[in-house]
Amino acid sequence: AGDSGAARRKAAVARVQLENSAAMELDYLVPAELAGRIAIGSRVVVPLQRRQVQAVVLHLLDSSPFEGRLKPVIRLVGSRPMFSPSLLKLAHWIAEYYICSVRQVLRAMLPQAVRDRPETFVTDSHLRLARDCTGEIFEQLRKRAPMQARLLELLQAREGAASLSDLRRELPRAATYLKPLLAAGWIAREELRVERDPFQNEEFMPTSALRLTDEQTATLSAVMQALENPAKARPLLLHGVTGSGKTEVYLQAIDSVLGAGGTALVLVPEISLTPQTIERFKARFHDRRDRVAVLHSHLSEGERHDEWFKIHEGRADIVIGARSAIFAPLERLGIIIVDEEHEPSYKQGETPRYQARDVAVVRAKLEGCVVLLGSATPSLESWENACRGKYELVTMERRTDGKSLPLVRVVDLRMARRKGTGVKVQDAGCLSEKLRLAITDRLGKRAQTILLLNRRGFHSSLACTVCGEVVQCQDCSLPMTLHRADERLICHICGARRLPPQKCPACADPGIRYGGFGTERVESILREVFPQARIARVDTDSMQRKNQLRDTLRDFRAQKLDLLIGTQMIAKGLDFPNVTLVGVLNADLALNLPDFRAAERTFQLLVQVAGRAGRGELLGEVLIQTFTPHSPAIQFSRKNDFAGCAAQEPEPRRMFE
Ligand code: ADP
Ligand code: ZN
Repeated sequence: AGDSGAARRKAAVARVQLENSAAMELDYLVPAELAGRIAIGSRVVVPLQRRQVQAVVLHLLDSSPFEGRLKPVIRLVGSRPMFSPSLLKLAHWIAEYYICSVRQVLRAMLPQAVRDRPETFVTDSHLRLARDCTGEIFEQLRKRAPMQARLLELLQAREGAASLSDLRRELPRAATYLKPLLAAGWIAREELRVERDPFQNEEFMPTSALRLTDEQTATLSAVMQALENPAKARPLLLHGVTGSGKTEVYLQAIDSVLGAGGTALVLVPEISLTPQTIERFKARFHDRRDRVAVLHSHLSEGERHDEWFKIHEGRADIVIGARSAIFAPLERLGIIIVDEEHEPSYKQGETPRYQARDVAVVRAKLEGCVVLLGSATPSLESWENACRGKYELVTMERRTDGKSLPLVRVVDLRMARRKGTGVKVQDAGCLSEKLRLAITDRLGKRAQTILLLNRRGFHSSLACTVCGEVVQCQDCSLPMTLHRADERLICHICGARRLPPQKCPACADPGIRYGGFGTERVESILREVFPQARIARVDTDSMQRKNQLRDTLRDFRAQKLDLLIGTQMIAKGLDFPNVTLVGVLNADLALNLPDFRAAERTFQLLVQVAGRAGRGELLGEVLIQTFTPHSPAIQFSRKNDFAGCAAQEPEPRRMFE
């Protein structure tokens, strides 16, 4: 017996995968009352020994080899299957390709809140006056139960209808007074679901499609051609320099997908999933802005639960999300877009391990939809796929504003160190004279500056002046960073924390000194050197509070801040027209990582940062401080030369493989 034919046809046996046990698939009887309601992909509760456990139906069969010994399914969870047939196929592919169990993949496909509380929604009572609040009976009520009468009056003042939560604001015990009023027929009540919408109180100004540049037109028509016959189309790789208008192409491609009744899934690296990004989508699809769902890790559990169900129940046409949104239960998928496809954050590091960009390509194949990968600096894998003809390459080389890319200058820190004029010698390593003057110039012109340093914390190392010992993480063998806010040394690789030692752990000399710069220290130096500047720091330490990143970026955009100093958190996906200077404080940091992709990443980061400067009317400048000005990654990014970098790369990379 197979499971061909309609998924919901009546079947005697459900073959399920238990959710919390590594055991193989088990068979259960489908009881008569569930026949026709249980489908492939349904979640069910089944008996296992003396317990009741959750499971997912993988197959429906006419019979089972264990017939006669089978127990029946206890109940069905939710009214519709949690996994579509293509998501189940995808789960099997992932399990096989990345070598893990189907159970693990199925678990990862549902957000925890959905798994744990599948059908719990927050509801609110909507109340309506059912009788006139006048006359003798009302007067009697007022005397007998003044608070009940008060509730009726409040309702009347709201034109006879309001929600309980609204009334509670004025009458905190409204729920108590409500009961007798319902019983006496004064009020009618209806329970309505409340969506926890992360964008509830936000306004979006509608935007309309821009007139495309020639390059954009060519790109869009390649997408349209693929949309005509998705099953035959190859994945598209869009290599477009920063500011070439990739997002505009995405928006117009999505528009035509929606027009044809399809849906769209947009993956964005977590770090670029900023309010601005989401705003661009909600603003463009303004008349269906409530049908844009967002999935990322900064949502509360409740919000994530509700966003997921919104998609599940077909109330969303566009999903924007980070890595795990690749599993969003959209139906009628027309296009999957993976923006900044080179981003390492698409890789999930823990089981089930997967690379969301690759999963996107496979899902597109299973769904029969188009997949578009976009980047200013494609990953080498995608680049190779394009070179070998597996992907179709589309290129956009010019910025939409017709401006040339910003001027990129390299500052040799070895020289800056020696001179160090104007800045305290020990601070010169983070702020060269050139960069200091450039910042001063921008402050004078009320233009803004972004400074990037890819290291959090205060000091980046603690070293002994006598024997040279550097305090390292015991597990990772990399220097630990001092975080002044909590006076701890922290390993940025594994997160290990310890108290800073008072003397050298190797030779016991007390002459142990801090050195190097982290964002925390640079921030305090900047405040000293530019006391008049309004400065904010953006890194995972300073952006702990919910919405803090959003608020800071908003202030920066509104020009309430002059200078942002931060880690790569600020380097991506942002578009600030008034920024004319970007400083990379130490371009070597990424190069020194023990990672064979270090050079590739440095290049990508520098190109992205460079793309930030001068997006508005003003010409931008990028200053890259480095101790290794002649390293290829820095020279390439200087010229924004992607093909050069990719051609050069395979050689040194092979040495590490
Ligand atoms: P990318 O995603 O390639 O970095 P964006 O899509 O963010 O580029 O576009 C950069 C800027 O150019 C944005 O401010 C966008 O509004 C603008 N833009 C995009 N396409 C056009 C166009 N066809 N005409 C005018 N401006 C455009
Ligand atoms: Zn460590």
